[in-house]
Amino acid sequence: MKDMITITEVQKRFGDQVIIPSLSLDIKEGEFLTILGPSGCGKTTLLRMIAGFETPTEGTISLAGEYIQNLPPYKRDMNLVFQHYALFPHMNVEQNIRFGLKMKKVSESEQKERAAEAMRLTQLTEFKSRKPSQLSGGQQQRVAIARAIVNNPKVLLLDEPLGALDFKLRKDLQRELKNLQRRLGITFIYVTHDQEEAMSMSDRIAVMNQGRIEQLGTPREIYNNPSTMFVATFIGENNIFADGFAVRPEKIQVTKEMREGYRTGQIEDTEFVGDAEKLYIRSGKDLITAYDNNSWRTGDTVYVRWNKEDEVTLR
Ligand code: ATP
Repeated sequence: MKDMITITEVQKRFGDQVIIPSLSLDIKEGEFLTILGPSGCGKTTLLRMIAGFETPTEGTISLAGEYIQNLPPYKRDMNLVFQHYALFPHMNVEQNIRFGLKMKKVSESEQKERAAEAMRLTQLTEFKSRKPSQLSGGQQQRVAIARAIVNNPKVLLLDEPLGALDFKLRKDLQRELKNLQRRLGITFIYVTHDQEEAMSMSDRIAVMNQGRIEQLGTPREIYNNPSTMFVATFIGENNIFADGFAVRPEKIQVTKEMREGYRTGQIEDTEFVGDAEKLYIRSGKDLITAYDNNSWRTGDTVYVRWNKEDEVTLR
């Protein structure tokens, strides 16, 4: 696949504070790429540089082969959707969606046609005459997306667009957004600090920490083969051992009888997690977490092992 966005050795400083030291990233055409990282790691700053609301201190950004790092946002063929997607409260859904086109002096008939298509894609047609206050949070979110796709941008940038919504709606909209992206074929760059969200939606994830990309890969690659200590602790759960490897808790086998090749430990704590008991096992210097269906009590002696091939070595 062709590269849609190429970020090359981009640096960002605010005053003498270096937020992004040197970052390179290629984003493919039609890809759903997520930038995932903890609060303050520089995700929004990176997205704002792609959108044109911040200028890189050094480095280049290109869109479909053309350098854009010095273009103002409105000259970049992309749109940004925020968490606080201010819709115009006095305008109805259709007017909200048409607003940008109207500003660009697109003809009435074309405005109408394009808005109708955007509403069809986001399943808003039946709500077209409603005001934002008459819509649910999820519907309002869809209006924000419809507004952002109405001028057929090459790229859609989304900054925690589901952050304000409750868990169930978030899950529904995650699926909806992913399906929409597939249908549209538009490149999505999605920012979140929620690893489950990133896992469920993305073609690839760039895991970011302190202004750097720690790992870039498919959700599966990142989950199964975290390459650094940071990724191993940030994505899912991991047992990190003192000698520098990681093992997922679900890969740890536990038993009550002493067996050849097992490590001994003591149950330090247990947690009921619905379909199993989560065990915190003290074994020498390590606190090992594992899942099991048997009943365990604090202080019980337990024997654990795992397969060599389930160990992941960290950088
Ligand atoms: P969050 O998930 O909390 O939004 P983030 O990963 O998006 O975090 P950024 O908003 O990109 O992080 O901020 C990265 C760092 O840059 C932070 O330490 C922040 O304080 C700093 N920063 C962001 N904008 C500015 C600015 N205009 N001036 C100075 N420092 C800034």
